[in-house]
Amino acid sequence: MAAAGIDPKAIDIVVLSHLHPDHINGVKAADGTVAFSNAEIMAPAKDWSFWMNDENAAKAESNPMMKAYFANTRKILSDIGGKVTKYEWGKEVAPGITALDTSGHTPGHTSFVVASGPSKILIQSDVTNIPELFLRRPDWHVMFDIDPQQAAATRHKFYDMAASEKALVVGFHFSFPSLGHVEKAGAGYQLVPVAWNPVI
Ligand SMILES: [Zn+2]
Repeated sequence: MAAAGIDPKAIDIVVLSHLHPDHINGVKAADGTVAFSNAEIMAPAKDWSFWMNDENAAKAESNPMMKAYFANTRKILSDIGGKVTKYEWGKEVAPGITALDTSGHTPGHTSFVVASGPSKILIQSDVTNIPELFLRRPDWHVMFDIDPQQAAATRHKFYDMAASEKALVVGFHFSFPSLGHVEKAGAGYQLVPVAWNPVI
């Protein structure tokens, strides 16, 4: 952000897609302070209820990965003062940004449509982490999907939409440039990355 000339204090809203560590820990700076001191932090209501539920946390005790995730989510979101606004699917979280139900990866996992005039982009979040595997084979399961069946159903629904709308898709974990179009390929899909244009 510094390289792009963006002051973290100028950020007025941070919209979390789901509450996995790699998607929330950046709300704190390396020195432990709040990274975006003037921002409203927004979290999907369904994910918030899942991760803050004591019964769910107790069930996760036997799974080291999930146990660590529960501890992390609760610590990070309490460290920032617990001032988190919850948002619902199907509504705008900010002007032009609509939250979509893409649950499965986590119970409240959310993707976004960002629209401005005639332009539109889909932020898929973690519908797929590795497109080379899970777009090609959308029914394969990955250990990070909390409900693997639901995650697979979501992949089909989301990528059918992206392919038919010829929409530009952003994937947080996709290889550079993390931006491309989705097309159907056999029983699955493939990502056609956009060409990098250093002028843009
Ligand atoms: Zn995730």
